Amino acid sequence: MSLIPQNLQAVTASIVAAAAEAGRAPDAVRLLAVSKTFGPQAVHEAVAAGQRAFGENYLQEGVDKIRALKELGAPALEWHFIGPIQSNKTRPIAENFDWVHTVEREKIAQRLSEQRPEGMAPLQICLQVNISGEASKSGVAPHELAALAHKVAALPNLALRGLMAIPEPAEQFEQQRAAFAQLRALYEQLRADGLALDTLSMGMSSDLRAAVVEGATIVRVGSAIFGARQYKE
Ligand SMILES: *Cc1c(COP(=O)(O)O)cnc(C)c1O
Repeated sequence: MSLIPQNLQAVTASIVAAAAEAGRAPDAVRLLAVSKTFGPQAVHEAVAAGQRAFGENYLQEGVDKIRALKELGAPALEWHFIGPIQSNKTRPIAENFDWVHTVEREKIAQRLSEQRPEGMAPLQICLQVNISGEASKSGVAPHELAALAHKVAALPNLALRGLMAIPEPAEQFEQQRAAFAQLRALYEQLRADGLALDTLSMGMSSDLRAAVVEGATIVRVGSAIFGARQYKE
């Protein structure tokens, strides 16, 4: 029997518990189920258990899965692209996904806006921020964030929703919290600066509690729902 339904329940319970700990409403945090490396059947099981939002890192795999779930007769799902973006691969992202969490350059944002098909809702955008300094190559540097955010907010077919980060892995709760607090501070600055943001995409299987306590509105959880990933060589 699949463990996916009970894993989803357990993850939801830990989100609710962390929210309560921080005095936040139980529904203030959305669960994004990260289904990378798992097949359409696993996603289908999560859908049957009530999950509707899924995150994918690899473009071709994600596009194939979106199509497969339609063919399986799934209800409307929300698909989030959370992987690195190559500038020559923006079109399938713009055509197939609802959200993108990993925008870190103006050029990529411009292409996504230009390539978003007419008649579709604006593509929902989070800017990925590098809060770990040299430990990470991904994400806009904090001192370049405000300029990028104002440019992205002005693009016609995008809706800038907030910020995303993948901090350096840390074992200690307080260390995890400190990294998320940095992202939250940047988010609050942008809001104070007049940008209408409502999304902090932060926290994964191993640091979900710290992220929720620091204000995450979307947590991106893979292995705690679907099990350990096996990467192909
Ligand atoms: C894989 C991945 C996740 C989920 O990680 P888990 O540790 O399996 O929960 C979240 N966010 C991003 C960007 C990822 O690539």
